[in-house]
Amino acid sequence: MTSKPVVVETVRELKALTSAFRSEKARIALVPTMGALHAGHMALVRRAQEVAEKVVVSIFVNPTQFGPTEDFSRYPRTFDADFEKLSELGADAIYAPDAAEMYPRGFSTRITMSGPADGLESDFRPQFFAGVATVVGKLFIRCAPDFAAFGEKDYQQLKVVTRLSKDLDLGVEIVPVPTTREPDGLALSSRNAYLSAEERAIAPVIYTALKSAALNIRGGATPADAAQKAADTITAKGLKVDYVAACHAETLAPLSGDEGEPIRLLAAAWLGGTRLIDNIGV
Ligand code: AMP
Repeated sequence: MTSKPVVVETVRELKALTSAFRSEKARIALVPTMGALHAGHMALVRRAQEVAEKVVVSIFVNPTQFGPTEDFSRYPRTFDADFEKLSELGADAIYAPDAAEMYPRGFSTRITMSGPADGLESDFRPQFFAGVATVVGKLFIRCAPDFAAFGEKDYQQLKVVTRLSKDLDLGVEIVPVPTTREPDGLALSSRNAYLSAEERAIAPVIYTALKSAALNIRGGATPADAAQKAADTITAKGLKVDYVAACHAETLAPLSGDEGEPIRLLAAAWLGGTRLIDNIGV
């Protein structure tokens, strides 16, 4: 498959395109991204192609989900390379609005959420999920896809958008996609490009510490102790831990201690000036 994706920048063009898809009775899967595409994003596109006849990839570095001191201005923007990768995969369309198209003058609405949005990332990035929920809500309304693929790499975000689609009756089925990793276990992320060679060599410690914690829990350690041990391991490598937590895998609420409760381990830590996140099931 080498057909070039159609690139649209305005809501009007997007709606014309998706209407044409629907008139062919095609189901549509949306893959929301911030660009700087890597093999993790490609896994989302491939999964989207399995569930729907037409795949639209959105590329938008969403300013409202970045805090004032975060990396919005230096976030990598690589549209030409992204276009080539999506062409190779045979994605049908790219929706690449600019900020004025997404947030016209006078824009005043924000979707705020609790439930899965509480805690974890929200404790450190208080603006983050309102920014994500608002932009994903807008993308779902504009594109009206049947499906949307999201990565488990951003596990809390996956649970937040699943809740959002249900709560606002957006009718989009969320398709979760497992995390794509480097051979040494580091989860692929556009932000890995910020790491120096020395930092890159250390970065897999988050994943290896989470894996040991999962093993320890399966071996009978309490989730709190296992998470603390993982945090200590990560800190010992020179990272600054924001959190390592064991949560209910579906609600992300604190564990109740019930037998057989599904557990997810989630972590965020700074390696130099780069914030990395990862998570695994127990
Ligand atoms: P981003 O461009 O970082 O906003 O990510 C766009 C989508 O790609 C989100 O659904 C992410 O969860 C997903 N994603 C990012 N990295 C990975 C990865 N390593 N494996 C699987 N999905 C990923």
